[in-house]
Amino acid sequence: MKASIAADTFDVVVVGGGPAGATAAHDLAEAGLSVLLLDRAGRIKPCGGAIPPKLIEEFAIPETLLVNRATSARMIAPSAREVDMPIEGGFVGMVDREVFDEWLRARAVRAGATRYDGTYRSMTRDAHGVSVDFTPAKQPTTQHTVRALAVIGADGAMSLVARHCIRGANRPRCVSAYHEIVRSPVPTRGSPFDASRCDVYYQGRLSPDFYGWVFPHGETTSVGVGSARKGFSLRNAVTSLRTAAGLDGADTIRCEGAPIPLQPLPRWDNGRDVVLAGDAAGVVAPASGEGIYYAMSGGRLAANAVTAYLASGDARELRSARKAFMRAHGRTFWVLGILQRFWYCSDDRRERFVSICRDADVQRLTWQAYMHKRLVRAQPAAHVRIFFKDLAHLLGIART
Ligand SMILES: Cc1cc2nc3c(=O)[nH]c(=O)nc-3n(C[C@H](O)[C@H](O)[C@H](O)COP(=O)(O)OP(=O)(O)OC[C@H]3O[C@@H](n4cnc5c(N)ncnc54)[C@H](O)[C@@H]3O)c2cc1C
Repeated sequence: MKASIAADTFDVVVVGGGPAGATAAHDLAEAGLSVLLLDRAGRIKPCGGAIPPKLIEEFAIPETLLVNRATSARMIAPSAREVDMPIEGGFVGMVDREVFDEWLRARAVRAGATRYDGTYRSMTRDAHGVSVDFTPAKQPTTQHTVRALAVIGADGAMSLVARHCIRGANRPRCVSAYHEIVRSPVPTRGSPFDASRCDVYYQGRLSPDFYGWVFPHGETTSVGVGSARKGFSLRNAVTSLRTAAGLDGADTIRCEGAPIPLQPLPRWDNGRDVVLAGDAAGVVAPASGEGIYYAMSGGRLAANAVTAYLASGDARELRSARKAFMRAHGRTFWVLGILQRFWYCSDDRRERFVSICRDADVQRLTWQAYMHKRLVRAQPAAHVRIFFKDLAHLLGIART
């Protein structure tokens, strides 16, 4: 961290140094703008750390940041029936957020961004720009101010920037997620734990409206659940999940939770000088809870939007971040939203959902969509087959 900031005026202040903010700061600095990356620091983001190959390729992530590559997923139904989904020609990458986020912030600095550890407090503006007030991490009783022409709010699901600046951002719809990082056991014959496989539990007792996961990260494993149901005990659910996964005796390293926003906000900019990115804008995929790729994608689009705004002086350019994001991913979010609402609402539906996952077409299309981040249109026959199989399950005429 820098003890003081040499300049007190920047083109852009990026609030939040997670995947969204660090990506935005990197891109802005590369575009030649002066950028302050302001991050609260001091806390590792609670996260399963699963990322798709598309992220690694699109954002030039070195393979050395991967602590594991899962080559299959096991879906576990309420009846405990298991369906394995091997990933042909691909993998799910695993990163440790402490190392991954720090690497992204360091890359932004190498590109020319100024980094500062501090907590954003408030914002005021006049005819010449914005004043951003923050508390430095090393002097928590003081308040500092920097000036900027634009601000990117990438300060996570409970974004203060969003609440201060964006209409309709006060109450984001969230799932609460909680996980325990445990030491991975040495694999033994007959143990339910497999270090090369992600396990996904669709069981109402573990989550009445989302799912539970076991994501192996090499030396450690993330065991977690999510739910939006008030009063549901996430901690008790993780205790049960650890028992089911054969991890009840594993050493616990950290226990932590955080909200996952479930819906893109209707507006990401204030029509003047602020635009949101990542969880602050509400962009975590429904059904899967995947947010890292979408945060980085949103960070990049917010940086593009701000660059266009500063070049033209036309604040309408800020809208392009949301427009471009929804053009690229809106349909995926819509499909996943329907999937979550329909299939995650009862154990009967969850049982059928896991059953559908046995289908070779479903497996191929699911993995292609996950790995390459687009809905696959090239195989109409497969879509038709899946449609009729889905229908048979919905009508209860297919066996589960
Ligand atoms: C338990 C759990 C498991 C998850 N598992 C996965 C997974 O396996 N794969 C996946 O893709 N996604 C997963 N997600 C979602 C993913 O973690 C988020 O979508 C992603 O981190 C969003 O990135 P971001 O940069 O928008 O926000 P964040 O990663 O939350 O970063 C926000 C940053 O802003 C900083 N900040 C906050 N407030 C202030 C302030 N006032 N001033 C300055 N700085 C501030 C924070 O310190 C933080 O560094 C999971 C989430 C949870 C909670």
